[in-house]
Amino acid sequence: MITLQIPTETLIKCPVCNSEAIYKYGKTKTGKQRFQCLICGRQFSHGAKTQEIQGKPFCPSCDRPMHLYKIEGEVIRFRCSGYPVCKTFRKFRIKEED
Ligand SMILES: [Zn+2]
Ligand SMILES: [Zn+2]
Repeated sequence: MITLQIPTETLIKCPVCNSEAIYKYGKTKTGKQRFQCLICGRQFSHGAKTQEIQGKPFCPSCDRPMHLYKIEGEVIRFRCSGYPVCKTFRKFRIKEED
């Protein structure tokens, strides 16, 4: 069983106003990243969030394992390791956990 750890730091939003206009503001004692919202000024900390996918996806057409291809917003794309012979892609949504 392979678990993929995908950082989702880019999805962090302000807990107060839900703005994505935040910037990094040093770190806490425990090593968590601190952020400050540019809209309301709220400071908050957040651990590095990761999304785990249990088991590597397998290509539905040729049964080869699939590799992480790219992350687009909340969508993770996998590409068949048989590429370019097999041009199968699969998409997964990143689920946020708080
Ligand atoms: Zn805010
Ligand atoms: Zn394939």
